[in-house]
Amino acid sequence: MEWTIYLDMDAFYVSCELRDRPELKGRPVIVGPDPTKGPSRGVVLSASYEARPFGVRSAQPVGLAHRLCPEAVWIDPDMEKYVRVSHEVRAAVAAVEANLAPLSIDEMAVRVDVPDAASAEERARALQRTIREQLGLPVSVGVATSQIVAKIATDLAKPGGVKVVPPDGVAEFLGPLSVRAIPGVGPKTGELLHRYGVETIADLRGTLPLGLRRELGDFGAWLRRLSRGIVLEDPRRDEAGPRSRSVDCTLEADSSDLGELEKILDGMVERLVPSLEEEHLAFQTVTVALRWADFEQTQRSRTLAASATSRAALQVPARRLLAEIVEREGRGARRPTRRLSLRVERLRPRHGSERPIESFGGAQGALK
Ligand SMILES: [Mg+2]
Repeated sequence: MEWTIYLDMDAFYVSCELRDRPELKGRPVIVGPDPTKGPSRGVVLSASYEARPFGVRSAQPVGLAHRLCPEAVWIDPDMEKYVRVSHEVRAAVAAVEANLAPLSIDEMAVRVDVPDAASAEERARALQRTIREQLGLPVSVGVATSQIVAKIATDLAKPGGVKVVPPDGVAEFLGPLSVRAIPGVGPKTGELLHRYGVETIADLRGTLPLGLRRELGDFGAWLRRLSRGIVLEDPRRDEAGPRSRSVDCTLEADSSDLGELEKILDGMVERLVPSLEEEHLAFQTVTVALRWADFEQTQRSRTLAASATSRAALQVPARRLLAEIVEREGRGARRPTRRLSLRVERLRPRHGSERPIESFGGAQGALK
């Protein structure tokens, strides 16, 4: 029987830093731009489990995190380090398990063919030990006969645990969880379900109200089956992969200078391209969104004729979209911008995505 062992590194960026600075272990540590070093409008990238009881979360504005937990130690993000360590983790897993799919910088799925839950759990614990002993990093592990249930199990295993869901226990496992535990049910879908009184996954088991069924389409039927323990391919996804990837930048000071905004956008392209390369994703739709100083938001998208992977395929349409937005909605650059977002959608795995692990190391160099 095929099982998925889903690995998700715990507070990955923080854990990478703690390896180098073990004296910080046990203290609230936050990776992000330090708000005490002058005005910063950035966000928390990763918070240690000691910082979380204060209410500190990833993606939170750094000023808020500082107010919630003034004693936290701030560490500037070092993406190069995290990418390097991510490769080390993959290599350590690949040395033991043949069938691995990297999903993001700190998540991967390993498929194993074993007869029962006990054997799958043994393989999962062995991987967890390997990562802890060879790399000194904590990882949570979910084990199930489908990737989506394994991923949900991983969230419940955090931090540092192993959660196994046997195939005949899927409905029972999922039932009490919030619908938001399902990957693909974001704030918007969560709110829609809430309006119809659906809070837990068990609430999806009955006949769904007609209005809800209409709004959700095939995804509703898929959710209902999932709630009963029947796992099929998510109709919203081309593969079991992510639907979009984005980067945001809140400007240090509001700006209406197109040249400056372009420069910031180019920097965002530089951040997004390697992470797509990292995840072996191609994109087809490019979206640029601007939040104006008055907090209104405008966005524009362009869908390319075919999936693309290159920097130019992202940069050219992104720049054009930015110029269009500033020209039309920004009243010819007289309306200042507060925040800039770049998003790619209609993602699919690249051809040749089953490359051997050795080629991951050259991934970024190949883009130059
Ligand atoms: Mg993680």
